[in-house]
Amino acid sequence: MIKSCSCGYQLHILYNYMKTRINIIFYFLLFLCVSAHAEFRAGMAVKIVTPDPLLPVSGGVGPSRPVNNKKGDLTVRAFVLDDSITRIAIVSTDFLGFPRALGDKVRKGVSSIPPENILIGATHTHSAPDCYGFPDGDGGTSADLEYLEFVCTKTAQAILEAVKRLEPVSLKIASGEAHGKIAYNSYADELYDPRCHIIQAITSEGVPLATLVNYAIHPEVLGDGQNILSPDLIGPLYDRLEMKGGGTGIFMNSAQGGMVTADVRGPDGKDIRTWNECIRIGHLLADEALRIIRDAPKQINPRIFCGWRDVSLPIESEMILSIINQSPVLSGIYNEKRVQTRINLINIGNAQILTIPGEAMPNIGYFLKRNMNGKHNILFGLTNDAYGYILSKVDWNSFKIYNYVTQTGLGEKTGEIYIKEAIQLIKQSPAPSKMNSN
Ligand SMILES: [Zn+2]
Repeated sequence: MIKSCSCGYQLHILYNYMKTRINIIFYFLLFLCVSAHAEFRAGMAVKIVTPDPLLPVSGGVGPSRPVNNKKGDLTVRAFVLDDSITRIAIVSTDFLGFPRALGDKVRKGVSSIPPENILIGATHTHSAPDCYGFPDGDGGTSADLEYLEFVCTKTAQAILEAVKRLEPVSLKIASGEAHGKIAYNSYADELYDPRCHIIQAITSEGVPLATLVNYAIHPEVLGDGQNILSPDLIGPLYDRLEMKGGGTGIFMNSAQGGMVTADVRGPDGKDIRTWNECIRIGHLLADEALRIIRDAPKQINPRIFCGWRDVSLPIESEMILSIINQSPVLSGIYNEKRVQTRINLINIGNAQILTIPGEAMPNIGYFLKRNMNGKHNILFGLTNDAYGYILSKVDWNSFKIYNYVTQTGLGEKTGEIYIKEAIQLIKQSPAPSKMNSN
């Protein structure tokens, strides 16, 4: 009994040994197989959405302003990234804001990417048609609903086209201060974040396919009062990136609230609000972005993680409530005076990206960046929604100069709720991987 038992035991050990060996060989082959096919790919596509004939433009709450001229074209741009397991789309639109009501229409038109993996931001140009349906004071709105449908269709097409164009790439990611006269804080000169973050996709031939530029700035050089429709300084930024060999550009704004804006201060103290000034600033930002990214090491087969959190924000502002009630675009988006919005957290290679559904004050931006876990911590402002300014409760309704940003936000609680939810999302998400470079 004992012998036979011992023999059975030895057979059992042999069986386990063989099984373990077979398992090791199986997983090794599987690893080789996955490694062979795990290639990181990117695709980029652009669609022009300049209205023809031209439409009035919106620089904020209230009726739109008429135009009779355009400088540059309005575009929607899709940058799709795929690590063979996770696919995401980073989308930028040349508008003041792109509310979720429109974003969800775009997402419905794209079946090849999960809706929560599609991040849609606005550059915040102040010279493009109204996407909110702001009341015009006469019981109507200046927003053109047919045009907005056209924009949603074009944006979905851009994403689908970028998916079709997916090709193997490596990534370069860099952060650094952009030098020169680009942005400043018009409330207090130095209270802005000069850091510029860049993500560049390089094809297997070594050519830049696309350059994503992330920086905090109000593209309001022209504004809405000059009868001009324009992407503002973002148009020349894209032109310059392409001309200088950066491939197709895509701009995602950052924490540019109260009031981080384009530095258009002239030598005589007067602001220079011309197309030439858009070109000067756009080109300078492009040159700085390309300088910062130039020597960054290539990241080979970087991994992507895409997390998200749905957040409920109270509407404390009677003005915002009244706008939502009157807007044909936004009506019905809230329940019991609360709106639902989505925050995304993305890891790409050694970078971490967090989205902000509005215009966060620069101090909130600094706080978030230092609580994130990437080598490069990047904020996508005005993304997935744009509910006006986001202030912490101690900033809210404080300095007289904050009156405007206090009025044009959801309320006193927005900042604290957003920060708390964002920090929880960061904590529950994995940290980005260490860099895998050549
Ligand atoms: Zn703004």
